[in-house]
Amino acid sequence: NYILEKSYFIKVIENLAEVIEQQKDYLTKLDSEIGDGDHGVNLSIGFREVMRNLAEWKEKNITFFFKKVGMALLSKVGGAAGPLYGGFFMKFGEPAENKEEVNFEVFYNMFKVAIESVEMRGKAVIGEKTMVDALRPGLDAFTKAIEENIEPKKAFEMFVEASKKGAESTIPLIAKKGRAMRLGERAIGHLDPGAASSVLILETFMNNLP
Ligand code: ADP
Ligand code: MG
Ligand code: MG
Repeated sequence: NYILEKSYFIKVIENLAEVIEQQKDYLTKLDSEIGDGDHGVNLSIGFREVMRNLAEWKEKNITFFFKKVGMALLSKVGGAAGPLYGGFFMKFGEPAENKEEVNFEVFYNMFKVAIESVEMRGKAVIGEKTMVDALRPGLDAFTKAIEENIEPKKAFEMFVEASKKGAESTIPLIAKKGRAMRLGERAIGHLDPGAASSVLILETFMNNLP
């Protein structure tokens, strides 16, 4: 049985804050092509706020921890991505039911409720050139891998692989949601910044798996 402890989740968030700093210019560049060029900056502001409070939050259980992370992102990130990622992390901890560790089934459910929350808040579906184009195909591949009893780490790799492919699928699309909508056909040929940051988030969960 594959168990994920609270220390794993703390490590993921610490590492994610570093990844966001490293990729800030890249995400901002993507957003300057089809948006207003603030996606990397927005996320960096949010994760800096998370890091300022981490020492205090990491004493608490997984549910409480992610509720705080989500609330910080919700209040600091701003733009379209703030409420979406804020909601993602606020929901993410709920299946952990105030525990200090989770099994792989609960871990899967954490991603399921978090991604469904993004879809509910943003009302985007696949093909609209948003982060949902990375998250939804990723989750579907993860679900399939779980149903087929594929071992945990491999199942998570399939999740990330499908989300990467999904993110790349945004390149030829016209945007039907978000700021890039206004560009019409001029959005064609550009990777969606939110889909790119979603892949970074999932990759960070993968890279820190025990
Ligand atoms: P803003 O566009 O307000 O400046 P950001 O630049 O931080 O916000 O985030 C832009 C990203 O948000 C887009 O690349 C897209 O992936 C995502 N996004 C925008 N609207 C939606 C939506 N309705 N549903 C899901 N994702 C969305
Ligand atoms: Mg933007
Ligand atoms: Mg903006």
